[in-house]
Amino acid sequence: MLDQLEAQSPDALLALIKMHAEDPREDKIDLGVGVYRTNDGATPVFRAIKAAEQRLVDTQDSKSYLGPEGDTGFVHALKPYIFGKNATMSGRIEGMQTPGGTGAVRLAVALAKAAGGTRIHLGVPSWPNHAQILQDVGVETTTFHHAKDDGTADIDALLDAIGKARETDAVLLHGCCHNPTGVDYTDEQWEQIAQAFADKGILPILDVAYHGLGHGLEEDVAGVRKVLAKVPEALVAYSCDKNFGLYRDRVGAFYMIAKDASDLPTITSNANALARANWSMPPDHGGAAVRTVLRDEELTRQWLDELGEMRARMRRVRARLAAADNEAPGLNLAALGKQNGLFAMLPLSKDQIARLREDHGVYMAGSGRINVAGLHEGNTPKFIAALADVTK
Ligand code: PMP
Repeated sequence: MLDQLEAQSPDALLALIKMHAEDPREDKIDLGVGVYRTNDGATPVFRAIKAAEQRLVDTQDSKSYLGPEGDTGFVHALKPYIFGKNATMSGRIEGMQTPGGTGAVRLAVALAKAAGGTRIHLGVPSWPNHAQILQDVGVETTTFHHAKDDGTADIDALLDAIGKARETDAVLLHGCCHNPTGVDYTDEQWEQIAQAFADKGILPILDVAYHGLGHGLEEDVAGVRKVLAKVPEALVAYSCDKNFGLYRDRVGAFYMIAKDASDLPTITSNANALARANWSMPPDHGGAAVRTVLRDEELTRQWLDELGEMRARMRRVRARLAAADNEAPGLNLAALGKQNGLFAMLPLSKDQIARLREDHGVYMAGSGRINVAGLHEGNTPKFIAALADVTK
């Protein structure tokens, strides 16, 4: 039976990682993989997380099973950061831990489907796994344009999608630091989005995977909070893998906001059942480390400092690229200064991307997506010169 399987195309980014690893040039630049890097090109463990992990080693007295909802202390400790310090939402919200933001997105889509949702609107381009998850769960996907050529969000395309949506549709939006474009909606646009959702009464699924990597923890979820303040119900998928640097530990959370608090037990029982059938329980370690950080004032302060350093560094790289707008005309590097998070899309042709790789040792996804954290003071001038060369 297994010989009936058809080969799947390998992950293009993994192929890129391999090519980069095999390139002997010392000044090669990796802008492919989506992880944060320091000015030295490292992706270190946060100091706050290291300290929390040490405490866990010293004090954890059991690794016995938790439930499908995972570490509820972790899930509740995150809530004020996402939803606001005093956001009780009249008891209409409950959350659970998931294996990464991926698990949370999967659960959101599966729960929407279980509730009768048949179709999900997705702005494109998007994180490639969104479309794969939608397909695998078995909901229909309809797409709309996320960004305009000028490097700003295409709000009309989204409002049009919401306007045309059927009652059983959901719309999946990135909460901040859009992957792959870096293009986020403005505060005013989020107001419009919130109103459109409220008018239409359809379900928003909000994917927050880069909280704190844009302008700040409060600023980055201001749009999400605007939507949640207006809509009767919503689902939020959250990742701690970037903002706590926990990538391989797979740390995520999934929050359900119900029309009425009395609906929550039924909704969460469905989410638990879906989790049980998928992964049974989330891995504990990373969530426990985040909980340990957030329950300790000193570790929280350290985490906020480390996250602040990351954010400031990425803003500096973006400002440097934006200032080089004239050096590579046609790429609209100026727009990168106003965009957020790890990623940006450069309108480069396949040929130009190949030349950047072959002639200059600059590695980026075939879509033109770059990880701005792959750039630092040392290699940014070389990158800008390479862009100037392939676009001249
Ligand atoms: N949503 C988006 C938009 C992402 O870019 C990612 C990861 N890169 C995720 C969700 C999932 O993150 P995680 O690694 O926590 O599963």
